[in-house]
Order: sequence, then C-alpha cells, then structure tokens
Amino acid sequence: MAVCEILSVGTEILLGDILNTNSRYLSAELAKLGISVLRHTTVGDNHERLAAALKTALSRSDIVITTGGLGPTEDDITRDVCCEVMGFETQFNSDIAKGIEEYFSAKGIDMPASNLRQAYVPKGGEVFENTKGTAPGLGMKKDGKCVVILPGPPYEMAPMFEQSVIPYLEEYTDGAIASMTVRTMGIGESAMAEKAADLLESENPTVAPYAKKGEALLRVTAKAGSRSEALELCRPVVDEICSRLGSFVYGIDSESIEQRVVELLKENNMTIATAESCTAGYIPKRITDIPGASSVFEFGAVTYSNEMKHKVLGVSNETLARFGAVSEPTAREMARGIRRVSGADIGISVTGIAGPGNDGTDKPVGLCFIALSAKDAELCEKIETGKNDREYNRYVTASRALNLARLYIEQKTKG
Ligand code: ATP
Repeated sequence: MAVCEILSVGTEILLGDILNTNSRYLSAELAKLGISVLRHTTVGDNHERLAAALKTALSRSDIVITTGGLGPTEDDITRDVCCEVMGFETQFNSDIAKGIEEYFSAKGIDMPASNLRQAYVPKGGEVFENTKGTAPGLGMKKDGKCVVILPGPPYEMAPMFEQSVIPYLEEYTDGAIASMTVRTMGIGESAMAEKAADLLESENPTVAPYAKKGEALLRVTAKAGSRSEALELCRPVVDEICSRLGSFVYGIDSESIEQRVVELLKENNMTIATAESCTAGYIPKRITDIPGASSVFEFGAVTYSNEMKHKVLGVSNETLARFGAVSEPTAREMARGIRRVSGADIGISVTGIAGPGNDGTDKPVGLCFIALSAKDAELCEKIETGKNDREYNRYVTASRALNLARLYIEQKTKG
C-alpha cells in the first residue's frame, strides 16, 4: 500500500490563526483511495525548514502533498522549494499566464505583476487547473516519489483534488480510478449542483461540480478493482444526472459544443451559416476547428457596421434605427438574412456588446442577442454575461450561439 505525508505550509497555522482543515480533508479522501497517510507536518513560510521537512517526508513516503504557500508574494515559497528538492527546473507557461490575466480582467481588477510568478511550473511536471482561483496546482513524479502541490484556500484545494489529483495518483491506489464529465450549457453552476444535491454526497463514485468558461460541469469519479469496473460505477450516475438535467446536457467527457453541433448537422444532412457582429468570426472558427466541418458549414458573414447589416443581410434600416444594432429584432433579421443569402438550412446570428465600453446607449456590456432562423422555426435568446471581459464575452456568446443550434436540431429530430 502506498504511503503519503501531508505537509501544510503557512505561519498562520503555526500561530493558531487558522485551523488546518486541509489535512483533515486530504486524509479522509486519501483513505478512500486506499492510500495510507502516515504523518501530518506543518511548517511556516521558511525556505530551509520547508526544504528539510520535504526531504525528510520523501525519504520515508511515496507521496507528499503540500497545501499553501502558492500565492504571488515573496513569502509564497512552496513551488520553488519543491522544484529544488525534486530536482525540477521551472519554466514560464504562457497559457497559464493568459488564464491568470483573464481571471483578473473578468473581475475588473488590475493584475499585480507579481501574480505572473504563478505561471512558472516545473518542466516535465503536471499542471492542475485551478477553477476557483489563480494559482495552478502542480505535480512532479521522479524515481518512484511523487510531490503534489496544492493551493491553501480549501475552496480552491478540494475541487482541484477531486478533479485532477485523484486521477494523477491512480498508480498509487489499490485499484483503478475512472472519471466521466457531464457538460452542460445554459444553466449556472449552483442551479446545476442543486439538481444533483444528493448525488454530491455520494462516496463512490464522487460527484463534483465546477464551472468553466460559461459552462457548468459535473465530474463523476469512481474507484474499483479495474478501470472498466470503475467506469461501470460511473455510468448509472452519469445517466441519472443526464435525466435530471435534460436538454442542458450537451456532451460527455471531452466533447465540445462545436463538436456536438457538427456531429448533429452531419447526422441530419443539414448545413449552417453564420452572421456575426460582436464575435467577429469566432463561431465559424470553432465550427471549422472540427475536421470534416466543410460538409456542413456554408458561409460566415462578419457585419460590424449597420450599413453592412443592411446591405449584406437585408436588416431593415427602420429596425436598426428603432431598436438599435444590439436588439432582438436586429438579431432575428440577421439570422433570416444569412439563411437567405447562403441557402443554408440554419442561419445563426449574434449581435452584442463585448466590452470593455458599451455602445453609447444604456445597454450593458455583456448583453447579447442570439437568433436562429430555419425553414420551420425562428428562435431568439438574450444573454447577459454580467462580465466586463471582452474575450470571455465573445467566447461565451459564441458557445451559446452554437448551443442554440444544438437545441434546435435535437428538438427537431427528437420525434
Ligand atoms: P493565496 O494565493 O490565497 O495566497 P496560497 O496557496 O498561497 O493562496 P496561503 O497563502 O498559504 O495559500 O493560504 C491562503 C488561505 O488559505 C489562508 O489564509 C487560509 O484561509 C487558507 N488555508 C491555508 N492553508 C490552510 C489549511 N491547511 N487549512 C485550512 N485553510 C487553509
């Protein structure tokens, strides 16, 4: 049986300012995986003492899990000390840096430059996404030893453990671990979690909710003697979640919304065309990221000015003058227009305010209208992201437009 030690980092714990609930949580979770926890150690934010404690722990255990000291300031030393002791170089990861910058801009706060320290990760190590904060978790494996580095705040640490660390520790568990992820769109994380509240209490499989770029996800993780047995445990829970969440569910595991839409269009011999204002080509980009999309994608128009909305798509000048470019009537006429011009089965359109400024009216940043036109239906959805983040608003709007196409095709082909 693999043995593990938990190393809590933080002078606050030693001073009695906070209670070490992370160790208790991790011990209970590790026991469920069949990993024995032999010791809990706490050290302050001190380079030498942390290095010494880590070396000692590694000399007698297979796994050491640290929590805390991953923040952006000088006294957050865990990452550097662990890399040094394990003999891993650190390197800058530009994707993580971008994620941290987006996290701050979504909150409308200027990012302190020191936060980019969190984008340095061990070369050849593993990075665990932080869906609740900025500091990613890290994993390093070498010579049969494993170090896992987690953030201090329990609400960041626990989801990261459930989503990423459990699969990372699979080789140390007495059995196999398998996960399945149910992906939803159009429902918030808390509303989704409420519908699955009793399932979140279950022990094997465990069910963990999280949110990511306008989507809400539920990760189902089971442990069993073999991977196929673990998947067998996950499947009925995934089915139950799907039946409770109905049409909010668009996919399982890594399937993306664009993949689902292309699949549905192909299955039903349908084609699609897009007319975009604020997303400016984002939707065709995502559709054509999927191999084979050329058989279903007809045409994409980016019509930013009112003049082009009128000339290319036939949106009436009266509609534009009366309701404005960012309005339901304009979105509907754009969708009808692109369907007429392209001859596609489905026309989808978006018009909205991506930010950071608004369009000079009292309409808020993040407001967007999405419309769909087909021979037998016309739909329109209004979304308000509530965020002053241009990139986020464009991405989420494109996702929701794809989702509207998915809902239409699923509904049409159901019976
Ligand atoms: P941050 O980026 O927020 O600084 P961090 O990973 O550097 O995160 P710390 O600065 O060590 O973590 O701790 C941040 C907060 O997380 C603490 O103030 C405390 O509220 C909580 N925390 C840290 N360690 C523990 C622990 N072992 N048990 C419970 N809570 C903890």
